[in-house]
Amino acid sequence: MQGRRRGPRPVSFGSSLRVIDSALLGLPEFEPGSVWLVGAGPGDPGLLSALALHALARADVVAYDALVDPRILRLARPGAALDYAGKRGGRPSPSQPDISARLIRMAQAGNRVLRLKGGDPCVFGRGGEEALALAGAGIPFRIVPGITAGIGGLAYAGIPVTHRDTNSAVTFLTGHDSDGEVPGGLDWDAIARGAPVIVLYMASRHLPKIAERLLAAGRRPDEPMAIVSKATTPGQSVLVSTLGEIAGVAVNVGVPAIVVIGQVVRLRAALDWVGALDRQKLVSPS
Ligand code: SAH
Repeated sequence: MQGRRRGPRPVSFGSSLRVIDSALLGLPEFEPGSVWLVGAGPGDPGLLSALALHALARADVVAYDALVDPRILRLARPGAALDYAGKRGGRPSPSQPDISARLIRMAQAGNRVLRLKGGDPCVFGRGGEEALALAGAGIPFRIVPGITAGIGGLAYAGIPVTHRDTNSAVTFLTGHDSDGEVPGGLDWDAIARGAPVIVLYMASRHLPKIAERLLAAGRRPDEPMAIVSKATTPGQSVLVSTLGEIAGVAVNVGVPAIVVIGQVVRLRAALDWVGALDRQKLVSPS
């Protein structure tokens, strides 16, 4: 698993496509015995950061989560060990302490450990917990932010997460707590009053209940909402609806899905650039 190489070298993936000169960009050395907690973005490999590509090209081990797009894993250095460290519904999943302990062990064995997570590692991604465990064990680590689904996924649906005439705040929420229930600790009345745009992660299951709570707390039934499934991937789909329509109705959406509630959804009518590009492809001769 060691495969040590000294000194910066250009990152290459596929055959001869050289994309990054790490010396030119002043990228840091990925030291053996350290862990990089890296955000892989919502799916589209084009949204990876230069640091993420650099880490993929050098890592001895890539410990990845379920949400990391397979196209991104193909960018790992040939010979790197790919270690699935995610939770999978219906199968025994490693516990969070087990995952952290494994990262520590692999680093202590002298590997360059790339911990790759979907989106941003610190947005509903337990990156903070893993970083705390690494800090506690004295393992050098680095956090490389990624593009979170709640911003990048919406951008691919033509929905800017803030817009000057519409909202000067945005609220990110998780749609279920650690017991899988609608988060009881949230003050839904305060959210309904004070959050012009609400972005919900992990909300597919409880969406009808959440819509009902927001309506009960005074949000309007005609308020627009959008559900973006498999955002930024070739399978992306977008459902535009209203709070009133979604409340109490079981919706069948592809997962993962990100949900946005608020007037910014209206901008999609003019800004659906992914749809426009697809339509162009359909009409232009191949
Ligand atoms: N750290 C991740 C979020 C992890 S929680 C990030 O910053 O994006 C998992 C939730 O993220 C999913 O339930 C879904 O709500 C959202 N998500 C992640 N990738 C997504 C994608 N490609 N499309 C839509 N939603 C996505």
